[in-house]
Parts: sequence; C-alpha cells; structure tokens
Amino acid sequence: MALMETTPQTKSLQPLLILLTYTLVYLALDHVSYLKPYGTFGVTPWNPQSGLSVALIYLAGPAYAPAVLASAAAADYLLRGGPLPWFMELATSLALGAVYVAAGVALRGMKDFDSRLSASRDIMILIGIAGTTAAVSTVLYTLVISLGGELGRGEFGYVAWRGFIGDFIGILVVVPAIFVLFVMRPLPRIDRDWILQLAAIIAALILIFGYREATAFQLFYLLFLPLLWVAMRYGTAGAAVALAVIQVGLVIGSEVRFGNDPGLAAMQTLMIALAVTGLIVGAIVSERQTASARIRDQQAALSSALRVRAAGEIAAAIGHEINQPLTAIKTYASVASNAVRTGNESLAREALDKLTVQSDRAARVIKSIRDLLRQGSCEPAPLDIDAMFKEFVDLFGNDLAAKGVSLTASIPDDFPTVMADRVQLTQALHNLVTNSCDAILDVRPYGHISMVVTCPSNDRFSIAVLDDGPGFPLGFNTLEPNLFVTTKPEGSGIGLSIARTIAEAHGGRLEIDTSMRGACVRMILPKTRATDEPYSFNY
Ligand code: ADP
Repeated sequence: MALMETTPQTKSLQPLLILLTYTLVYLALDHVSYLKPYGTFGVTPWNPQSGLSVALIYLAGPAYAPAVLASAAAADYLLRGGPLPWFMELATSLALGAVYVAAGVALRGMKDFDSRLSASRDIMILIGIAGTTAAVSTVLYTLVISLGGELGRGEFGYVAWRGFIGDFIGILVVVPAIFVLFVMRPLPRIDRDWILQLAAIIAALILIFGYREATAFQLFYLLFLPLLWVAMRYGTAGAAVALAVIQVGLVIGSEVRFGNDPGLAAMQTLMIALAVTGLIVGAIVSERQTASARIRDQQAALSSALRVRAAGEIAAAIGHEINQPLTAIKTYASVASNAVRTGNESLAREALDKLTVQSDRAARVIKSIRDLLRQGSCEPAPLDIDAMFKEFVDLFGNDLAAKGVSLTASIPDDFPTVMADRVQLTQALHNLVTNSCDAILDVRPYGHISMVVTCPSNDRFSIAVLDDGPGFPLGFNTLEPNLFVTTKPEGSGIGLSIARTIAEAHGGRLEIDTSMRGACVRMILPKTRATDEPYSFNY
C-alpha cells in the first residue's frame, strides 16, 4: 500500500505539485460531472471527485486531508458562486471530506489490500470501502442539508439514493483508474485488439442511446460484452480503463438523450452492476495471469538450474574420473619417448601398450559416466495429449507471444489416450519449443511454432515441433545430436539430448528435419507399451 511514498519516482513528486494536480483535476471533474444536479445543493448521480479524494489520501497520505476537507466548498464557490449559505457550504464540505479522508486512511491501514488490484480480494475490499463510504457520506450529507432546512419533506430518500450512487460509482470507477496510472506496474502488454475493443464499447453506447425503438435501459446489458472482453484480455487494469471510458460515454449519452430527464441516475444504478462485474472478472483474470507467470518463472528457473547443475556435475565427474588415466598416459608417453631416444625398443613397446590400455580405460570411464547419467525412471500413465497441449499453450503461449512468437497445437480428431509420462513429455516439448523460439528470434523478432500430432502407423504416433526459424546450423549432426554441442553463447547443449533421451525412454526416437525455412523436431513414440515394465530412462 501507499506506493506513492515508497517508489523513488513518486518520492520526487513535490507535495505542492500533488496539491496542484489534485485541485485542478478536482475542479475539472466537478465541472464536467455537474450534470442533472438535484436541488440547490446539487446532488449529482455521478461524483468522480469522491474517488479522486479517496485515492489522494490512500496514495499520498493523510497530510492532504485539509485539501480534501476544503475541496467541495472551494469548488462550489469557484464554479457556481456558492449556491448554499456559507455555513452550509462549510458543513457539507467538511462532512463529505471527512468521510473520504477516513476511507483513504482505512484503505491504507488494510494489510490485505494491494492497490495493484490483482486479486479478487482487493476488489472485494474496494467494493466494501466504496459502499461504506458512499453510505456514510450520503447519510451525513443529507442530514446536514436537512438540518440546514434545504431538504423538503419526502425528498430525503431520493436525494440519499442519488448521493449514494454518485459516490459509490465515483469511487468504483475513479480509484481503479488512478491506480492504473500510478500503481499497477507492469501494465499488461497491449496488442492491436484494443482498437476493436474501443470500437465495440462505442458501438454498444451508440446502440444504447441511438436505438429509438428501445429504451437505453433495455439495451444497457450490451455494455457487458466489450467490458468482459477487455477484462478477460487485460485483467483489472483493462477493466478499470474500460469502465472509465464507459462511464464517460454514459454521461455524454445521457446528456444527449435524456436532456433534463434524470435518466442518468437510473443508468448509474445499472453501472454499479457493470463496474462490480468488470472489476471482479478482471481481478480473477489478473490472478490467473499472475499465477501462471509465477509457475512459468519457477519452471524456467528450475529448468535452467537443472541444466547448469547437470552440466557442472557431468564436467566434475568426467574431470575426476579421467584424470588418472590421463596422468598415466602422459607418464607412459614420456617413458616411450625416452626409450625410443635411447634405442630401448622393448621398453618403448611396453610403454606404448600400457598407454593404449590407459586410453581404453579413459574411453570406458567416459562411457560408464554416460551410462550412469542415463539412469532414471519414467512413469508412463494414460495421457491425453490434447489436454497436455492445452496446458502447455496456457503456460507458455503468453510468454512466447510477448516475444513475438505464436504457438499453436493440432491433434487429429478422436486421437486416443496414449501411455506416456506427462512430466517427461512436457519437459521434452519445453526444450524443443524453447529451441525453436531461440532459433526464430535469432533471425527476426516474430515467428510461429506449431506442435503437431500425427499417426505414422497404427501403433505409433509422433509429436512434432515445427518452426519457421532459420533451421539447424550447417554441419550440425541432426542424426545424432551430441551432448554439449551448442551454438548459443549461453547454451548448454543439453536440451536436445534430453528430448532424445526422453523419446528413447518411451521406446521411441527423435528425428530432426531441417531446411532454410525452418526446423521440425519429431518424437516418434509408441501409443502403448508391450510390457508393464518401467522404462529405463536415459538422461
Ligand atoms: P542449447 O539450446 O543449450 O544450445 P540444445 O541441445 O537444446 O542446447 O540445442 C543444441 C543446438 O541445436 C542449439 O544450440 C542450436 O544450434 C540447435 N538447434 C536446436 N533446435 C533448433 C531449431 N529448432 N532450429 C535451429 N537450430 C536448433
């Protein structure tokens, strides 16, 4: 909470600048929202200043309370020449200001509240605060004006309802929009769809207010469609911006369509449902995006840690085991060379024989280390490849898209369940897709990867990862990719070998096709296993 105080960027913001911005934005909002005022006191069905004041106290602290307490009266005098007697202006301004300050302070005090609004809990808290603030401010306000004799009999309920809606929706729409501006970082990456989404919102507004045969209220539900589209795409930040746009559209539309008829108040009641739905859906989407980003980060960190550890361990094991035969080879070589120099042919032959034995030993050591590292286990179980693909695209699709690479998956209809190890196949796919992405981005900032399942025979199926990158480097041993062979500065040369090993552990094989138009790495695997024995797994 209170990010304004803690980020260096906001630290440099001078209090004077904050005060000036608040005052100017307050006056501007007061001016444009002074629509359909009711009574001399002017209760409006849209009161964005409430949200602005709550957000100021939340972000900048209670030190700004005097500004909030004075703002309503100041705006009334500056913009409307003070329609109420001075003591009423002062009393209403203090009453409203005090409630907004209290709301901002309460929000600051809530440990569970995160102003990035990335969890549904945050939205629930915001709705609770908005509702309570609106209720208390309305009761106080109506009490003050009725005590001051400004409220006629029977008006209390109507004015209170208008005031409540104005404040409630003001806080629900403006506070998230301000958080988008100042707090929510990183903001979701925006693609070209936002133009369509904006067009959809404008189209819905035009239909709502322009379609004469229906009342605006009957068509109001149309706004749910673009709002949910934006919320599903960009989470809370998107929903907050869309709601602000819709709110402005509703105000303009009501003004044009209803004129003096107080239809905006009824619209605003519907707007509450829209705002609550949009924000909650947005938060659920943000929550999900954050969770899958976390899983991706963890998986990436784990996979890179495993690679580095594996490489380190393999290097250490080879170094340790090979050191002895290498030392012996060196000794026998110098004995042989001395023997040749002194003409001792039999000693030279003996030393060379021993040297051969030692070099065979070195080769055996390497082979045994390789065999040792290949041990592992693989637990095949019935696997729905389509579901695995979906989960994979869910997990990594956005990340790739952010880099400019699209990922699709295709599988024949009615493809049966196969016996395979889900974790291992996902790992293999991850390695292949990562390689494809690296290869594409090496030559241009966009590309496409597809994961395709085919059935080359009745008992076998293949999972291919195809890309439109530059293909494998010339001279790369695609028939038998070697461990530790890499062309990347940060590469380890392990990923492809792991994929091959996983394919072999399943009783299958790995095939590579490459051309200048792209690469296709295919795991050809049996659909079922002949025996129930666990696979020997080769890492
Ligand atoms: P690393 O990715 O750490 O380099 P890998 O064993 O996964 O190790 O890959 C070995 C090498 O194979 C890579 O450095 C790259 O040159 C090449 N390669 C792998 N996949 C592709 C691909 N889809 N397109 C082009 N080259 C590839």
